Amino acid sequence: MSLDLNELTIAEAGSGLREKRFSSRELVEAALKRAEEDNPRLNSFITITRQEALKRAERIDDAIARKDGVGSLAGIPMAVKDILCTEAIRTTAASKILENYKPPYTATAVRLLEEEGAVAIGKTNCDEFAMGSSGENSAYGPTKNPWDLERVPGGSSSGSAAAVASGAGLFALGTDTGGSVRQPASFSGVVGLKPTYGRLSRYGVIALASSLDQVGIFTRTVEDCAEVLFRVARPDPKDSTTVKKNTPNFPEELKEKLEPLTIGLPKEYFVDGVDKEIRRLIENAVERLGKEGHRFVEVSLPHTDRALPVYYIILPAEASSNLARFDGVRYGYSAAEAADLPSLYTLTREKGFGSEVKRRIMLGTYVLSAGYIDQYYGKAQKVRTIIIQEFDQVFQKVDCLLTPTAPSAAFALGEKSLDPLAMYLSDIFTVTANIAGLPAISIPAGFTRSNLPVGMQLIGPHFSESLLLRLAYLYQSMTDWHAKRPPR
Ligand code: GLN
Repeated sequence: MSLDLNELTIAEAGSGLREKRFSSRELVEAALKRAEEDNPRLNSFITITRQEALKRAERIDDAIARKDGVGSLAGIPMAVKDILCTEAIRTTAASKILENYKPPYTATAVRLLEEEGAVAIGKTNCDEFAMGSSGENSAYGPTKNPWDLERVPGGSSSGSAAAVASGAGLFALGTDTGGSVRQPASFSGVVGLKPTYGRLSRYGVIALASSLDQVGIFTRTVEDCAEVLFRVARPDPKDSTTVKKNTPNFPEELKEKLEPLTIGLPKEYFVDGVDKEIRRLIENAVERLGKEGHRFVEVSLPHTDRALPVYYIILPAEASSNLARFDGVRYGYSAAEAADLPSLYTLTREKGFGSEVKRRIMLGTYVLSAGYIDQYYGKAQKVRTIIIQEFDQVFQKVDCLLTPTAPSAAFALGEKSLDPLAMYLSDIFTVTANIAGLPAISIPAGFTRSNLPVGMQLIGPHFSESLLLRLAYLYQSMTDWHAKRPPR
């Protein structure tokens, strides 16, 4: 059987390159070809950067031939969510308002990976300004789930999840403000990590809600996730919320033996609304991990049912302020027909933004308006503090938590797009980690009877990524869910 370059892990691709079994050009060409072939079907990419990618790959091949030192990700193709700025490469945030925007700089997370030699093959589709849970809110059309083209791949990082699942790039970057890496990872059968708030830089990420946003990682295996995290988790002088901490050597620590852990099962995450098949798969995982000597205890996070209301006050409030900059003057689309400045603002925003974005701007301005700010925004901040404290208390008793990533597997295209509330509910188990700034990972945990992937979530205390990765790695080594590929 011939070697499928799109199915390699980062480690396999790296050793293949070093042993000259293939070149970076071949590896990148294979990823580009897969992206181009699949895009009419999946719509994972808004922009495919063929020329730039091949040029970079050739430079890396030259450096390898000259025996110059190359980075740890040299020649590895990656996909980047179109909400991370890339210098001189169109960055749309999946919005019409930024249709022709070419940023003057590159996001730190992308830059660090490029410094290690990774090659971006394109910018992935997503919900407009990362607002959504299905990928359907993109001005460039919905992304399809590679496991079932009638279904959504999850969102908002829809294209990054679908790209990694379908082999267009060996890994991808996304952003996770309320689950946008973990929920699509779960729906698409890949690994998705949201690091601790402050673990890596948000510089160059088009801001949605600054106190919740975090760059996240999609890979096909836990080892690959540890490798990419190790390269991007750095304090950044350009983002004052990054924490000055040494970065653990995640790939090395992955191999360390895991002492028996106490793992919490929060009872509020195992409620009736969770699909029965998902419950069964998660219970199987608990059983298997139990046999490895880990102890499970039921815990309670009583304010879990307040997390979504809190999120949908804080997020729109911050988003309405962050999105005020799109006024037709400085960036992107500008309504040419406007007669004066006020109508330039109004027309640009009316025509440039999609309906979900408008909905959230209206909600956000409302909850911040004089007379309502204490009642909504102020109150939400207080409840946010209670949610954080509840997690702190639970982590006195347990090392980490295990939950379903989402209450259902991938839903059908169009199923929830007319019902914002139903859509918001699909983030019920993921928003909590953003509210509390905690690291969390979704890993493949099986398939439903209709062959849709299901994810399991691990949530840990701040900066416990290494522990989460080791537990995820142990589970991965006992199962082969991650090795299953969508039909082609
Ligand atoms: N689906 C959530 C929302 O619509 C999460 C978005 C995100 O994480 N970017 O806000």
